[in-house]
Amino acid sequence: MKIAAFAGGVGGAKLADGLAQILSPEDLTVIVNTGDDFEHLGLFISPDLDTVCYTLAGLANSETGWGRAGETWNTITNVEKLGGPAWFRLGDQDIATHLERTRRLKEGQPLSQITRDFCKAWGIQHTVLPMTDSPVRTMVASDEGELAFQEYFVHRRCEPKVRGFRFDGVEAAEPAPGVHEALETVDVVVFCPSNPWVSIDPILQVVKEIRKPVVAVSPIIGGKTVKGPAAKMYAELGIEPSALAVANHYRTILQGFVLDNADSNIESVIKDLNIKTLVTDTLMNEPADRKRLADDVLHFIGSL
Ligand code: GDP
Repeated sequence: MKIAAFAGGVGGAKLADGLAQILSPEDLTVIVNTGDDFEHLGLFISPDLDTVCYTLAGLANSETGWGRAGETWNTITNVEKLGGPAWFRLGDQDIATHLERTRRLKEGQPLSQITRDFCKAWGIQHTVLPMTDSPVRTMVASDEGELAFQEYFVHRRCEPKVRGFRFDGVEAAEPAPGVHEALETVDVVVFCPSNPWVSIDPILQVVKEIRKPVVAVSPIIGGKTVKGPAAKMYAELGIEPSALAVANHYRTILQGFVLDNADSNIESVIKDLNIKTLVTDTLMNEPADRKRLADDVLHFIGSL
């Protein structure tokens, strides 16, 4: 079975890792949100892409879910001592990634090519693609005005109340080389348990159309997110946060939906939307959970 997985950062990376443990390299393409990308300290930073790659390479910090394992913080500590901005925590090993990516981008190389080479260097066999090589920047409309995504997410710790989202540059952005090809050849597209508003929606806006069956895994369990602001965003936009809200979010393109055991009471409502359902344990706390959930998702897809 050939799968394209759409992923943001932490939640997406965990399921992508589970799928990669089961599917052979030619059967899995991970298409990653780049709307969170930004320039900081003169470096081009691609947080979701790095989280997915570090996770697939076994280099990720398992406690935070982002950044590198065994990280040191000398550079950012010294930047701070000099009065520079230190709100976006960059570890020393991680900075090497951003330095080399920035150098190559400045030479005019596309992000997809750089990502391919980094994956090779890190021993990642499955294909990881940025959604686009063009700059797309997620902008958060909030009660404090419009904020660039990392300003909202990291600097302001998601405190401003959201009013909506805009993906600056998305109209002009073409999918990165390989994205269309993957979407034409796969059997199914899986939306990993990533933030629907700011991780999956930007990818959807770039690819514009999916002509394959779509199965989504809910990032919301029992009305709450495992991590991050997705539930808070639904609430602030006037939608009760729940797995049902996520299913509704994607309802026009969804064939199947995977929700947690904790939400089994809403399964029938989702079925009424004409969406097939799988109720299972969707929490991926331990590395083994990733493979277990991926296995469940693949069996579910097989049954559709
Ligand atoms: P970000 O860019 O790092 O915020 O990452 P994503 O958009 O990929 O993931 C954030 C979403 O993943 C949040 O809504 C979380 O609730 C969800 N998430 C994280 N870990 C898990 C998990 O183990 N299971 C499920 N179902 N969702 C998860």
